[in-house]
Amino acid sequence: MRPQTSVRGRVASTVATVAMVTQLTPRMTRVRLVDDSLVGLAAVPGQTLKIYVPDLVGELPVSRDYTVRDYAAHDCDGTRPSLDIDVVLHGEGPAANWARRVRPGETLEFVGPSGRYRPDPQADWHLFAGDETALPAIQAYVAMLPAKTCALVYIEVAHAAEEQPIPGVARPTVCWLHRGDLAPGTTALLDDALHAVALPPGQGRIWLAGHTPTVQRIRAHLLNERAVDRRTLYVKGFWERRPR
Ligand SMILES: Cc1cc2nc3c(=O)[nH]c(=O)nc-3n(C[C@H](O)[C@H](O)[C@H](O)COP(=O)(O)OP(=O)(O)OC[C@H]3O[C@@H](n4cnc5c(N)ncnc54)[C@H](O)[C@@H]3O)c2cc1C
Repeated sequence: MRPQTSVRGRVASTVATVAMVTQLTPRMTRVRLVDDSLVGLAAVPGQTLKIYVPDLVGELPVSRDYTVRDYAAHDCDGTRPSLDIDVVLHGEGPAANWARRVRPGETLEFVGPSGRYRPDPQADWHLFAGDETALPAIQAYVAMLPAKTCALVYIEVAHAAEEQPIPGVARPTVCWLHRGDLAPGTTALLDDALHAVALPPGQGRIWLAGHTPTVQRIRAHLLNERAVDRRTLYVKGFWERRPR
């Protein structure tokens, strides 16, 4: 059984050591955890962790949701498992600030993983869309698709420097939407792209996540104006702007 090194309330949590911090792009940092505490975690990329990071003001840590970008039951030297999360460095926030400052040797406490979403292997086509916070999940899900699967991907990022490889054998059609210096969550780039997209024939699956009001608007459009079957649509708000 996996060691449960700490308990938050009545929920068992895991404490793991940060082994590596990698700047993937100017606005995205990968934090790799390597620890015996990850043995038996059975994490699947695309699942969610609730990580605990220092608050900006209070003394108690706060929790934030992050996607398991990758999980290996054993690391390269064959001894200890590893888990990656990719964190957007968006501005001032406990998690973004933690990711800017964290160094190898420090520890991270988290609860999870949780989440059962997987791309349906029977679907005729897939559409994934979101902003950069959804990119780790989209990369994980596209990597699960079989070769020759019809897949469309729309991702809003700041600049071309934020584009990352979309791995796997499916080779989807990927459209990067650049908002430039505009603030995240203030553009209609994803709305416009999904209003314009021609959905392929057959039974498709749509996965949409990111800035909550944006994905809610797009969900309403797909259901009300495109007659998309709600059972084929997965929509999750990942963050929203809060007044300072
Ligand atoms: C299931 C799930 C999975 C997620 N996976 C990932 C992931 O893999 N990688 C990732 O980076 N994020 C991911 N997110 C989003 C992440 O949890 C939020 O962005 C979170 O609010 C960041 O916490 P923070 O402490 O940095 O900022 P907060 O304290 O939550 O927010 C501080 C301020 O920053 C604003 N803000 C928060 N996030 C953003 C942003 N992305 N862009 C611009 N402004 C922002 C808020 O509106 C607020 O005004 C996920 C969310 C969910 C629900």
